[in-house]
Amino acid sequence: MHTIDHVYIDGAFVVPHGEERFELFNPATEEVIGTVRLADAEDARRAIAAAKRAFRSFSRSTVAERIALLQRMHDAIAAREDDLFEAIRLEYGAPVSRGSWMAKHASSVFLDAIDTLRHYDFERRMGIATVVMQPVGVAGLITPWNSNAGFICGKLATAIAAGCTVVIKPSEMSALQTKIVTEALHEAGAPAGVFNIVTGRGDVVGAEIVGSPDVAKISFTGSTAVGKGIVRDGAATLKRVTLELGGKSPSVILDDADFGKAVPLAVMAGFNNSGQACIAGTRILVPRARLAEFEAMAKDAVDAVVSGDPNDPATTVGPMVSAKQWERVQGYIRKGIDEGARLLAGGEGRPDGHDRGWLVRPTLFTDVTNDMTIAREEIFGPVLSIIAYDDEEEAIAIANDTPYGLQAYVHSTDDARALRVASRIDAGRVLINTLAHEPKAPFGGFKQSGQGREYGVLGLEAYLEPKAILSA
Ligand code: NAD
Repeated sequence: MHTIDHVYIDGAFVVPHGEERFELFNPATEEVIGTVRLADAEDARRAIAAAKRAFRSFSRSTVAERIALLQRMHDAIAAREDDLFEAIRLEYGAPVSRGSWMAKHASSVFLDAIDTLRHYDFERRMGIATVVMQPVGVAGLITPWNSNAGFICGKLATAIAAGCTVVIKPSEMSALQTKIVTEALHEAGAPAGVFNIVTGRGDVVGAEIVGSPDVAKISFTGSTAVGKGIVRDGAATLKRVTLELGGKSPSVILDDADFGKAVPLAVMAGFNNSGQACIAGTRILVPRARLAEFEAMAKDAVDAVVSGDPNDPATTVGPMVSAKQWERVQGYIRKGIDEGARLLAGGEGRPDGHDRGWLVRPTLFTDVTNDMTIAREEIFGPVLSIIAYDDEEEAIAIANDTPYGLQAYVHSTDDARALRVASRIDAGRVLINTLAHEPKAPFGGFKQSGQGREYGVLGLEAYLEPKAILSA
């Protein structure tokens, strides 16, 4: 049993003022694996005060000093990669392949921030003005459970690169990962107060950070509903807000696509991170003339996906993170059937041979229309919908007919055509015949998938205020 009873404020591990205990589960077994003592609003206020004090000098640190700190943070997190992998597997249920990528990603984001920082001009001439990019102030960083360590480190690395100090409110369901990350970051020797980590409830600690006049900026990754609340509540102090929210990403299969390549990529885009991914390609748009061929190949591909024990290397879809999430996914599968979609693979209940663990059957629907609930709402589980279209114009219209716009995928053997289609899809990222990630490029959403961008230069600038200085 893990007992986590410290938060990190002003450079030290301290017993929180808050007294509530929150249980941590192993989603593969449904067993309680530990408890975490949650921070409360008072802890949040202490953390904000520490970050505010530290901002005075850290905001004037040199780029070289910040690069050195980021390098030490990278090294410290990399040294705990095995522990992090173990925690991700245990409390989140990520399968081996995904879990090891996540554990590596948590340290690599510091190197990405260093690379951005090395090439960034904090001072430029614009006409007769000198424009200085100045750190915005104390930043509140709020993360979800589906990649907690990666989001903590990614947001922190960018904030540090900018010269901001931070208060981090990680997901309360990911406290094992947070503990390891905090211990590692402590070893990196940042000045006290530069980063503070207070695990607590969103509506308590998160709300305190969002409402504080001493916090200049919020970077939030999570659900669209909570993101809207942050914009609303942050308005009182005119917070700078970056939001990375939900998605209902289309995989557009053009009629010239090589199905031998497109089918496995489309299935992987949907089931990545056990389907608990904001970027999941959950709407697969298929030309009606080749629908039967695609359905047959996609059914075989989904039937071959192993949903099971995250320790088994054959597993590619692990359990849902919680009982609530499992129920939610089951509800959507039922809804799809009720609304007239046809099951090609999977369905309700657990995969054969499993009677515990929040495991879901990898599910593929066809005969889905874009107005069905399963095509409109983010499910956040391994449930994919095939939607047929008649021509390219209709494919583009369906791709864009969603409140979301985070990511899209296009599959074609004609590069120029794929690019033309990509240019007309309203999404923050469009991937053509690939599932690659580029940390130098901005990441974020159009429409209700978010506001602002993370990663690279544009991500860094979200933590900076431009100041124009003119002199006679
Ligand atoms: P969530 O919105 O419930 O919680 C996210 C974080 O916000 C948690 O730390 C939570 O405690 C906190 N929170 C909750 N209420 C709050 C409040 N009133 N004020 C401040 N903070 C509050 O989301 P989740 O269930 O943890 O994560 C799943 C969601 O995250 C999905 O919708 C998914 O699409 C989204 N997500 C988006 C991205 C992206 O980059 N776009 C990445 C991963 C996940």
